[in-house]
Amino acid sequence: MAKYIFITGGVVSSLGKGLTAASIGRLLISRGLRIRMQKLDPYLNVDPGTMSPFQHGEVFVTEDGAETDLDLGHYERFTGQRTSRRSNFTAGRVYWEVLKKERRGDYLGGTVQMIPHITDQIKQCVRSQAAEDVDVILCEIGGTVGDIEGLTFLEAIRQIGLEEGRENVCYVHLTYVPFIRAAGEVKTKPSQQSVAKLREIGIIPDVLICRTEVDLGEDVRKKLSLFCNVSPHAVIVEKDVTHNIYELPVVLSEQGLDDLIMVHLRLARPPARLDEWRDMLDRMIYPKHRVRIGVVGKYSELQDAYKSIFEAIEHGGIPHTCGVDIVKLPAEELEDEPDIDRLKQVDGILVPGGFGGRGVEGKISAIRIARENGIPFLGICLGMQCAVIEFARHVCGLDHAQSTEFNKDTPHPVVCLMEEQEFVENLGGSMRLGASPTHLKPNTRAAQAYGQSIIHERHRHRYEVNPGYHQRLQDGGLVLAGMDRDGHLVEVIEYPDHPWFIATQYHPEFASEPLNPHPLFRGFIGAALARHQENATQVTP
Ligand code: GLN
Repeated sequence: MAKYIFITGGVVSSLGKGLTAASIGRLLISRGLRIRMQKLDPYLNVDPGTMSPFQHGEVFVTEDGAETDLDLGHYERFTGQRTSRRSNFTAGRVYWEVLKKERRGDYLGGTVQMIPHITDQIKQCVRSQAAEDVDVILCEIGGTVGDIEGLTFLEAIRQIGLEEGRENVCYVHLTYVPFIRAAGEVKTKPSQQSVAKLREIGIIPDVLICRTEVDLGEDVRKKLSLFCNVSPHAVIVEKDVTHNIYELPVVLSEQGLDDLIMVHLRLARPPARLDEWRDMLDRMIYPKHRVRIGVVGKYSELQDAYKSIFEAIEHGGIPHTCGVDIVKLPAEELEDEPDIDRLKQVDGILVPGGFGGRGVEGKISAIRIARENGIPFLGICLGMQCAVIEFARHVCGLDHAQSTEFNKDTPHPVVCLMEEQEFVENLGGSMRLGASPTHLKPNTRAAQAYGQSIIHERHRHRYEVNPGYHQRLQDGGLVLAGMDRDGHLVEVIEYPDHPWFIATQYHPEFASEPLNPHPLFRGFIGAALARHQENATQVTP
């Protein structure tokens, strides 16, 4: 029978609840437990697929093709385990299910209510993770305790505590302990109030994890323990990590968090084995080399739109003991007059995925500079489509080549909708989504990087390279290095007359982990490092 850990957050959002949950997941795996991770989001969108990444952060795609919250990316990167469409439920999806049942008459004319109908549906979502081979289910509740839309979720997890028995359920509450500069002291009141809110619902946290910028003294811990009704050793301090998010499992384990959870859940396992994890951290924190990677994208205040891309770039440096500085290159600024010198100063250029025409010409210009100057290049999804457009225009002489996403009347629609996508009206879920096989051509750089001829990578797009142009692109010297199962759709392109020029229609960034960096990112950073070292020897007298 599976045990449950619920992770809630208080006081403010953006405390890094997802990272904390993922770190607990890593610790339990390091103790030999079999886990599943899940996120419940109390907002009304059915899934994050149609939400703006500039508001909500990246949409993370699971292998089975669900568009989910970016925290699932943390779960996969920290635990090395794959998530699925059952790993993320929103209030929208829960209500949708209940309303469908109501329309079908499943409730036999009864009144349909928040309790028990919505709460039962939520409990069913949580329990859908249980299986023979699962010891612990970790479930993070999105939002902040006190939000109106979160109430049914908290009520549901309270009921699970009652039904499963308290020794089978552990409530972890993440809170914020601010340091008030003018007073020169930390304040525990917001935490007291958020725990009081939880207790009002009937949940008594077993562990309190306090996010803080400063160290917390014994007196503060005691106070938190007393006022929040948590035993003193269950008050864990999560100070801002100085170097790297992947330090978090180690920081939490050093304070005994995993022991605490194991004791509470009556689980006996040997201590956490974190050697491999620590070794990876050492390489990240003390790199021997550094490269600069330019990412040509659309940027906003929010940092999270390219989360998995940035993480995968850093992972790519780990095998080379190479740190990476990411240089954000706003695509629109490259639109009119691309700053060639600025682009030449980076050791590699990455063009990520995206939707809509804003900044596309800037991306195309950056790709041209990468191609013509031998700067290592990795293009992803829209990045690959832009690389095809660039190649068509400047190498194959197909003037005004374009994707029909940006110009329906282009004389050369080198990227277009395939028939099956043409008549889709409803935006939600109308894309090619999830993992599907790609067949790599032997002896291509992609095949060498993967060391395999059939790979499975995740997609999220509507447009494809137009099959009517495959031959002309190949005549120009472009290698169609990877095709779908039927050999119709282009999955990987590369340009052989170049140190490293690869682009993929799929999203390799979703499958990269710090303990298992993705081969394409590993190869890309390797090529960037080679360029960096070559340039360095050229300037040294
Ligand atoms: N907009 C492009 C398409 O739909 C690319 C999508 C992406 O980069 N994820 O095909």
